[in-house]
Amino acid sequence: MPACPSFGLSGQNKVADVALHSRMGVLRDLKKANEAYWADKISQEALLEEGKRLRLAHWKIQKDAGVDIIPSNDFAHYDHVLDHIQFFNAVPERYTTQKLSPLDEYFAMGRGHQKGGVDVPALEMVKWFDSNYHYVKPTLQDNQTFSLVENPKPVREFLEAKEAGIITRPVLVGPVSFLALGKADRGSTVNPISLINKLVPVYVELLKALKAAGAETVQIDEPTLVFDLAPEVKAAFKPAYEAFAAAGDTIPSLVVATYFGDIVHNFDVLPAFSAAKGIHVDLVRNPEQLEPVLKQLGPSQILSAGVVDGRNIWKNDFSKSLDLLKTAIKALGQDRVIVATSSSLLHTPHTLASEKKLPADVYEWFSFASEKVKEVAILAKAVTNPEAVRAELDANAAAIKARAESTRTNDPKVKERQAAVTPEQHNRKSGFDSRYAQQKKHLSLPLFPTTTIGSFPQTSEIRVQRNKFTKNEITAEEYDNFIKKEIDLAVSIQDELGLDVYVHGEPERNDMVQYFGERLNGYVFTTHAWVQSYGSRCVRPPIIVGDISRPAPMTVKESKYAASISKKPMKGMLTGPVTCLRWSFPRVDVHQSVQCQQLALALRDEVVDLEANGIFVIQVDEPALREGLPLRKGSERDAYLEWAVDSFKLATAGVEDSTQIHSHFCYSEFQDFFHAIAALDADVLSIENSKSDAKLLKVFIDEAYPRHIGPGVYDIHSPRVPAEAEFKQRIEEMLEFLRPEQLWINPDCGLKTRKWDEVKGALEHMVTAAKYFREKY
Ligand code: GLN
Ligand code: ZN
Repeated sequence: MPACPSFGLSGQNKVADVALHSRMGVLRDLKKANEAYWADKISQEALLEEGKRLRLAHWKIQKDAGVDIIPSNDFAHYDHVLDHIQFFNAVPERYTTQKLSPLDEYFAMGRGHQKGGVDVPALEMVKWFDSNYHYVKPTLQDNQTFSLVENPKPVREFLEAKEAGIITRPVLVGPVSFLALGKADRGSTVNPISLINKLVPVYVELLKALKAAGAETVQIDEPTLVFDLAPEVKAAFKPAYEAFAAAGDTIPSLVVATYFGDIVHNFDVLPAFSAAKGIHVDLVRNPEQLEPVLKQLGPSQILSAGVVDGRNIWKNDFSKSLDLLKTAIKALGQDRVIVATSSSLLHTPHTLASEKKLPADVYEWFSFASEKVKEVAILAKAVTNPEAVRAELDANAAAIKARAESTRTNDPKVKERQAAVTPEQHNRKSGFDSRYAQQKKHLSLPLFPTTTIGSFPQTSEIRVQRNKFTKNEITAEEYDNFIKKEIDLAVSIQDELGLDVYVHGEPERNDMVQYFGERLNGYVFTTHAWVQSYGSRCVRPPIIVGDISRPAPMTVKESKYAASISKKPMKGMLTGPVTCLRWSFPRVDVHQSVQCQQLALALRDEVVDLEANGIFVIQVDEPALREGLPLRKGSERDAYLEWAVDSFKLATAGVEDSTQIHSHFCYSEFQDFFHAIAALDADVLSIENSKSDAKLLKVFIDEAYPRHIGPGVYDIHSPRVPAEAEFKQRIEEMLEFLRPEQLWINPDCGLKTRKWDEVKGALEHMVTAAKYFREKY
């Protein structure tokens, strides 16, 4: 039976949750508390007390669900990697010299600190593997040292749970992953992984402290094992885990956890873990790694089988999971198998119980974090005594069957249309040169055309009116009139500024994906299903439940109105198929490429409708294209790039040559997938660039990129209005790498989070700078 011998409880059903329950609480309680603290509305004590309340509540949910192995140290006020930076005393000096309280120093690293005469920017934050969660990058120095803080968080939280009567399994990010996910600080050249021998003794010290506090087992996460590893990273596992083995009984036993991919290509690392109690693998993403992993385990090692998806919201298919568990048990025996979620539940919303508005049939298809931990417990019982959970197994089978057969899921018309897609539909009528000649005439664009990325400030007035409309406090007509007034304002400001290609400002959009989801068949929406994206920021992804189609135009009304009052070309604004897919919870019953093509076909109709209504510049944003890139090089990545690029092309290629297609990306590191960006065949690309080295643009010359590019000339995340000279200098730098006739002048991204005076100030300088170069060339 699934047991965890490390607890010496062999004979009882043992199941585990692989750590990191969603942290936010039922009503985004943590977000609210953090933000109240940042706004000086609650005290530090009150914030810490709220953290404690949430931890206890989350442990209790798991205990009540019947989970035997419950994680601790999975909670974080901002980010769990940032916690490690702090408890290993790896805080860069620019923060330690500020003499802030530990909590304020922690938040300063997470989000910057500009208060009481202190002004420090945040550490860099990047996406966690292929998820939309962001972690704070360990930022290391040439002379980096590590030491353990007094009363470190993992020990504190273990004792806190113990006091509440729950013996937990603390979770740590492993030493190799911690370093491999880090970077050298500005001005340092250290290769983070070279610090392994300095860091490991501090881990040993922490592990000893955990053992002394009563921890029998620790989950040590080494998710970098799913990457293609640099040789020096691979080599670091041996000394690190040999040091742990040498510590013997003075430290808890270790379960090494991996997730989001398979580890088969890194099997040569496994001997390093021979003293570990067991290994956790993700069997949702890569069920095929089960058999090879079983062969690699040592004679008494356990397998923690991640069979319940930590990244999605779908009910587990018990029959599939049970097949995997039975295979594992057959090979290892019941005492050496733990049932677990595939990854942390950080990536799923808190509880389905909060959803009061989902259609009743659809409700039955989902499991959020609190339901997933119950699934783990049921599965563990099901492998030993299925009769004890017969009712649950039957209900699960019925729900899975109902979904498969639902008319919501299957739309024969969509399938017919997909079957009829031809290769020609992916290609524009002519090549870029001929298209551009027509566009130039049609749109009468000057050299160095200026434009913006789409959104203008989402003011509190906009939010108030949208809320009123959602609550039926104002009529659709009143709301429409309000939106028109906002568009009038956006257009008149662009007239004053003298921009060349206008946008309508997106006042009607709550979110760039949800807005489209709400207008498409095949989606459902939640009211409380928030997932942490970074710090206190949460997103509420819409859910794709069925075949996607577009019942009616989605953006034509606003764009057409905006064009009717504009002197200059109005740019239509759509979210691309890949981004719609990635920032939703996708279906798991059909491949993502199929869903993406359905989105592409819906968007294709929208693009064609925009053109038919007088919109001759259309931007299709794809900021999520890169995050969807499979983590390893090889066939999966190649296949992804092929279907992702094809979807974009299918969405955009239905227009005449004289219509100009733009796309936008919120990053500028294209080196590793430049050919995919080029293959999109977009007439104009706008990319985030202002904080990066202009040298990144060199790839466009090296690859002889023929089309047009607008590298962002200023940072839209900051309220700062850059001086005209800064714009000129930036454009000068760009001209070192791009031909003048290729260059567009625009900000890094949309301006929705800014205030109008900041926007006007910055764009005024931007336009003047563009005019200066227009005269010069
Ligand atoms: N058009 C969107 C906007 O301007 C693009 C946002 C994004 O790239 N994240 O807000
Ligand atoms: Zn952007």
